[in-house]
Amino acid sequence: MIFKAKKILKSTFGYDDFRLLQEEVITSILSKNDSLVIMPTGGGKSLCYQIPALIFDGLTIVLSPLISLMKDQIAQLHQLGVEAAVLNSSLSPQEYYQNVELVESGKARLLYVAPETLLLDRTLALLKPLKIDCITIDEAHCISEWGHDFRPEYRKLVELREIFPEAVFVALTATATPRVQTDIEKSLMFKGAKKFVASFNRENLYLEITPKYDALNQTIKFLRKYPNQSGIIYCFSRKQVNTLAAELDNAGFSVRPYHAGLTDNERKTNQELFIKDDVQIIVATIAFGMGINKSNVRFVIHYDLPKNIESYYQEIGRSGRDGLRAHCLLLFSHSDTMKIKYFIDQKEAIERRIALNHLNALLNYAETGVCRREPLLTYFGEEYNKPNCGMCDNCNSEAKTLVDITIPTQKFLSCIKRANEGFGAAHIIDILRGSKAQKILDWSHQNLSTYGIGLEHTKKQWMFISHQLIRQNLIAPDPEHGALKITSKGYEVLTGSLAVNGTIKEDFEPKHEVITDSEFSSELFNALREKRKQIAGEMRLPPYVIFSDKTLTEMAALYPTSKKEMMGIYGMGEVKYERYGILFMDIVIRYCQKNKIKEIDSLPKEAFLKKAPKKSKVNETIAALFNTGNSVTDIMGETKLKKSTILGHLYTYSQNNKLKNVENILEDCNLSDEMIEKVTEVFTKLGCSTLSPVYAELREKVPYDELHLLRIYYLSKLEN
Ligand code: ADP
Ligand code: ZN
Repeated sequence: MIFKAKKILKSTFGYDDFRLLQEEVITSILSKNDSLVIMPTGGGKSLCYQIPALIFDGLTIVLSPLISLMKDQIAQLHQLGVEAAVLNSSLSPQEYYQNVELVESGKARLLYVAPETLLLDRTLALLKPLKIDCITIDEAHCISEWGHDFRPEYRKLVELREIFPEAVFVALTATATPRVQTDIEKSLMFKGAKKFVASFNRENLYLEITPKYDALNQTIKFLRKYPNQSGIIYCFSRKQVNTLAAELDNAGFSVRPYHAGLTDNERKTNQELFIKDDVQIIVATIAFGMGINKSNVRFVIHYDLPKNIESYYQEIGRSGRDGLRAHCLLLFSHSDTMKIKYFIDQKEAIERRIALNHLNALLNYAETGVCRREPLLTYFGEEYNKPNCGMCDNCNSEAKTLVDITIPTQKFLSCIKRANEGFGAAHIIDILRGSKAQKILDWSHQNLSTYGIGLEHTKKQWMFISHQLIRQNLIAPDPEHGALKITSKGYEVLTGSLAVNGTIKEDFEPKHEVITDSEFSSELFNALREKRKQIAGEMRLPPYVIFSDKTLTEMAALYPTSKKEMMGIYGMGEVKYERYGILFMDIVIRYCQKNKIKEIDSLPKEAFLKKAPKKSKVNETIAALFNTGNSVTDIMGETKLKKSTILGHLYTYSQNNKLKNVENILEDCNLSDEMIEKVTEVFTKLGCSTLSPVYAELREKVPYDELHLLRIYYLSKLEN
């Protein structure tokens, strides 16, 4: 069973390894043991029940307290090609029946539902005849009055045990306190249930606390370090939120406020703009963040002292859900502390003692001279005794990240030299790693003195090293055919008169990957991000649902240019590859061509010239099929690509080239002539470089596929 789970992890979700505890939880659920799962935010709870849901014959019901969370989960599952349904009070009657249909027909593997909806007679009547294998209670702390978010309807969920006796119960939460945990087990009548508690250490969060002296300027300086990145700034009061948001806006930042004093509509708009990467920064009171799943929040600033450690932990926890580094800065001042002390002194005796305890724990954290993780995790009852976390101000990671890589650099350079500077990185690495590939033998490179001297690093590590060497201008790809040449600066390293600093990756481990700026191309990353934003806009989805930042970062570090390489990228499952893989690969290829990087290598020049266009231009192949009279449907049959992918390629092609007999493309259009004319008019009026305005102008009546198709037609006609 777990073998099957592992396969799904890779093929559907695009991940290589389970995170801590996931495998154990999945095994427990599959053997129908009730399970309580406690993992911090971003720990990977969803996968624990989603994979069993794909293995069970019957349906998995997921109870979730917030409509926005359900929507987000469903959107992510759909992007992975998983059928899932949702029932809640926000659906129109039509949407409601569509979802009921998905459940009744057995197509949906998962049903997301709000507790009060599930307990309705009509929902129970729908579900009773079906085989229900698993009931998952997400955000299970809502069941406990001790939790921070008690919801009375959660208390009734225990009734489901009798109604669905065959279902295994799974409760998940990120709340760590033992009291809440016991409450969950009791309320759900868990007997002999397995309990899984993950560490609350979020290794990818960089924790920093700094004295607050000129808060606004300190903040601006910080923000300048993260241009175009998403982040949240928490303030104590609404007034402070408004002032700061206005000041940052003045300073030219893309920023919106968020607090309970705004209208529902304003709050919703601001949140949405943030989620869609249209606005970079939200300045908020603590009210912001519940129910948003945005995975690429890169920083959290506490402009004022947080209420207590628990809320601090929750607030910083909203960053770095994608596992990439996120920076959490707290501006600490004694006058803030005095303010809070004053409020505490107004309270009754017992309450006052509790509040003081909270404050002291927080001060203890803020003023510690040891690793920040020590007081933080101790607070959650966890022991932490690593000497240096490398990710907090006290451990001061900066000095530690760069290491001396002179020796591997020398190996790499001398290998280039032995191979007469005629090959690209992949071939050089094959020599270093003693590969028996045919190409090596063809060139008798197994006889070089550098053959097999680089076994201490993996292929990926060597690839990282080679990219760093290019960026440090120690080697340069030949502008004509990409073979690596040693620069004069590189010769200084070879002769021992220059040392090199850089990083050597532990190889790609999915657990706590922290890719630093020097290891990926930010130009390529930005191009990939643009593409993601465009697609997300057209599909009306948050960008991170298409691909996480981590996925794009890996692409910008490893330059995948084949299906095989693309499938090795974090988060690239089969369905995502089919939908978007080629679109993003195109960008990588164009980048590599422009910068003459990548192993377009190891072949004599003539062969390279023959090979390169074929390797790089998928769109030309597809255009050739079209130009020789194949319809889009024909091409779909031939290439097994999706319609949207094919249209994407034809569009790319038609931007610089002419398609033959382009009117043939109308064969695959399902619109009336009248409608086609109307679309053309809108193109003329609004332009067609982005389609979402066109889609909106046509009142969302014309599907995107048709717009993509007509755009190709329109552009080609325009050319004539
Ligand atoms: P939680 O619900 O615990 O806050 P999620 O389930 O949303 O966390 O997971 C956080 C992120 O980690 C998601 O982007 C998810 O796809 C990713 N993730 C989960 N499991 C793995 C894994 N085994 N390998 C890599 N990434 C994973
Ligand atoms: Zn530390």
